[in-house]
Amino acid sequence: MKRMGILAGAGMLAAVGVIVGPRQWRRMLDWGATPEEIHRSLRGDELLPDADLVATRAISIAASPAEVWPWLVQIGVGRAGAYAYDWVDRLFGLDMRSSRRIVPELQGLAVGDMVPVANDGTGLRVRAIEGERVLATSTDDGTWSWTWVLEPAGDATRLISRTRMATAHQALLARVATRLLLVPASWVLERRMLLGLRDRAEGRVDATTRSSPRATSTAATETAATSAAATGTAATGTAAREIAPEVYLLGPWGRTQTNAYLVRDGSSWVLVDAGWENDGPRIQAAARSLLGPGLAPVAILLTHAHPDHDGSARELAQAWGCPVFAHPAEVPLATGDFAAMGRYAGPLDRWLILPLMRAIGGRRREAILAGSSLAGIVLPLEPGGAIPGMEGWGWIHTPGHTPGHVAYVRARDRVVISGDAILTLKVNAWSGLLRQQQGLSGPPWYTTWDQEKVTDSIIEIADLGPTVLAGGHGLPLAGPGTAAAVHAFAARTMRDPWATANVPSAGCSGTPSMPRRPGRCRAAAPPHSREVG
Ligand SMILES: [Zn+2]
Repeated sequence: MKRMGILAGAGMLAAVGVIVGPRQWRRMLDWGATPEEIHRSLRGDELLPDADLVATRAISIAASPAEVWPWLVQIGVGRAGAYAYDWVDRLFGLDMRSSRRIVPELQGLAVGDMVPVANDGTGLRVRAIEGERVLATSTDDGTWSWTWVLEPAGDATRLISRTRMATAHQALLARVATRLLLVPASWVLERRMLLGLRDRAEGRVDATTRSSPRATSTAATETAATSAAATGTAATGTAAREIAPEVYLLGPWGRTQTNAYLVRDGSSWVLVDAGWENDGPRIQAAARSLLGPGLAPVAILLTHAHPDHDGSARELAQAWGCPVFAHPAEVPLATGDFAAMGRYAGPLDRWLILPLMRAIGGRRREAILAGSSLAGIVLPLEPGGAIPGMEGWGWIHTPGHTPGHVAYVRARDRVVISGDAILTLKVNAWSGLLRQQQGLSGPPWYTTWDQEKVTDSIIEIADLGPTVLAGGHGLPLAGPGTAAAVHAFAARTMRDPWATANVPSAGCSGTPSMPRRPGRCRAAAPPHSREVG
């Protein structure tokens, strides 16, 4: 099963490899570098004399080496980040928030120090620093070296980055996977990293944080229901908004418009979902400003165990001394069980993340998984749907996005916290994600395990007749039209599960490893046995 996954992934990328051809392949390995730079030996090459996979990437920066250097020495997981795509790193559970300023405390990098590439601090050890010109690093196991060289070029700087890997000790499949997956992935990420470094050194990056996302209520255009946030002043930073009595929205935050919810029931309260790994401080700040200092929740409840929902769960559970609950079927995923990740994989897992996780080897993989594991903290929700300490609330099983996805429901007024079973951000269209377009949507197809169960769960939620639909991403839907809007959405999903998932169209057959898209291949809608109440 695992092996099939590798073969499928490797086969697909081999096909890509054939299509892109050797020239593009070289271009990925040697992005931006001149032939002279590619073939020149550099300080640091001696760290790994028998490397069999070498990449030389380079960029010109309109700043002096002394101006580039401070940005370079502070990189690393848990340091100033990688200046690349933080969201990709967070998919791997890495603590990445790329800094937009020079951090004085991180400038004292010395020979022997680590530049971490994993949350546990393991990574590249500094082997040599020469002036503000050369930073040479390599892993302790001697399989990977990475050197950066800054050379003055007139008023500018030439930054040359060389990675060398030794893969001869790996099994054949792992070597194939390393080449087919790691090379394109490292090209995409390192290219972005060099551009990010250049933009920072050239002062093109604003040191202040990104402005808060647009909080417009385009969800209202879909139906008579209005987005709850439209009624209040848009919150920034740590403020919480009451979207129903005793239900507070924290967020939406960031590019992914991620939400967490603070829910009170009499004198006790819970946190539903815990954002990305970096969201812990603002969740705590929001709870403090709402409830006063020192008040701990009875529990943190997870809708599912994805890194944008349980990222800060461990930190918060430890700070508050409270348990974390998830559906029993979700517990293996929450505790970093690699076999379970394979069993419940979505397309992104199957095509990219699992093959990469296999390629990096057991030790590094276990370190990454341990870094985001909730082992010893997460408990299974009790059967029957009750939530201890929260009499007015219950949970229902809404699998599909993940095997143990749940929604939280308050019976008396049918407030539904739906996680990623139904959300209110158009995550299945790139344009929707980039423009943060609001509107009802199924879960992101690329991280979804079982699309048929997704449809069943959407119907299940529609059957509740929600008065407030508070999803995992985007502005919640509230108001008199909400139940009707969710019904209409469920009906559309029943007719064509993939249409509402908005999967990029690629014909009916698709590639062999792609899931089938029933709705697009039939003239008439498939009959469905269930009625939408
Ligand atoms: Zn999510």
